[in-house]
Amino acid sequence: MSKEAKTTKEIETINVGIVGHIDHGKTTLLHKISGKWTDTHSEELKRGITIKLGYADITIYEDKGTFNKDGQGTAVRHVSFIDSPGHEMLMATMLSGVAIIDAAILVVAANEGIKPQTREHLIALQAKKIKHLIVVQNKIDLVDSEQAKKNYADIKALLKGRYDDAPIIPVSAQQGVNIDEIYKAIMEIPPQPRNLQGEPIFLIARSFDINKPGVSPDKLKGAVLGGTLRQGILKVGDELEIKPGIVIKEANQYHYKALKTKIKSLFNGTHQVQELTPGGSVSIETELDMVLGKKDSLAGGVASYHGKLPELSSAIKLKFSLFPEVLGAGVGTKVEPIKASEQLMLSINTSMTVGLVKRISGNIAEITLKVPVVTFKGDNTCIARNFNNHWRLIGCGEIL
Ligand code: GDP
Ligand code: MG
Repeated sequence: MSKEAKTTKEIETINVGIVGHIDHGKTTLLHKISGKWTDTHSEELKRGITIKLGYADITIYEDKGTFNKDGQGTAVRHVSFIDSPGHEMLMATMLSGVAIIDAAILVVAANEGIKPQTREHLIALQAKKIKHLIVVQNKIDLVDSEQAKKNYADIKALLKGRYDDAPIIPVSAQQGVNIDEIYKAIMEIPPQPRNLQGEPIFLIARSFDINKPGVSPDKLKGAVLGGTLRQGILKVGDELEIKPGIVIKEANQYHYKALKTKIKSLFNGTHQVQELTPGGSVSIETELDMVLGKKDSLAGGVASYHGKLPELSSAIKLKFSLFPEVLGAGVGTKVEPIKASEQLMLSINTSMTVGLVKRISGNIAEITLKVPVVTFKGDNTCIARNFNNHWRLIGCGEIL
């Protein structure tokens, strides 16, 4: 076993999401922080924007009071970064990323200032009860000190009452200025409480087929699930059940069938491990046919031991609160009350599902879901409503 794989067990891993408006420099920043480019899909390269969640893992080292990712000094913390798209059409992807993070970095380009998705992402973090925030005031190389000060004041005003204590770090991601201040801020986030005792709950954020074309059948790998372990421990050889699983047609009716499989191998970032504990973006190679994992088809699902997951919910009861204004739609659009029979989009853990409001009484909504999901009592949800073909966040809630 490599030195790295051993330290994985000894020091904790924290999951940090990178959010913010498109083009404000999230992917460039993550490249500087981690040494990795996360926009690697051909479509992303072509269009120059992040479409899928991107992942990069580092270990932070402390060396005489300063921090680096290059192995100088003592390893102090593993960080799994999740890069999210800032495009308004990809809000759902951003939200599924938020489901698996402990802390977030909000990137605001100093030359452009606070934009619709800056606001929308910040509110989503708050709705999902992400406690720790670092703000990066990026592209500082493009502004003079006056503009930088004004932008700083705007950020302060945006954070007020939400994340009053969040550090605001001026950075030039492109020129690699002040990156070590980000490591320092990450080190100031307290260790995250981890529940190792409960039954495992693995939230699936993506799934894929890792086989290269033309590989011989005896070397074929099973479908891989990427995501994070919310609680419990998983080991190689454990039996898994995945819900909702796959859609099957029986007696002319479509319904979901849970998948049962076994863990073939486990990875924490790129390190192969025998056991997973909460923290880190991790992946599970299963014995399932690789085809089942293709194109994120199992994303949004949840895995645990056989028989330990709750029944699928096709209706939920939600205690909700609405934002005063529609986010991301420009300033001043009031949120109208939720009405019976309207369609809403809900983000629950790593899944997104359309729901039809059955009944409303006060701040409790009963909603039937188009696609059933695994829910746990107390899960935080984001609620979006359709405005001119865009899903806009209008509030948040808690599953009862
Ligand atoms: P994202 O959409 O938030 O992921 O933004 P990208 O990382 O793709 O960056 C968008 C553009 O801004 C790219 O052309 C980057 O080279 C540029 N950029 C990123 N950070 C900086 C910076 O600190 N200074 C300057 N001048 N340009 C930057
Ligand atoms: Mg990007």
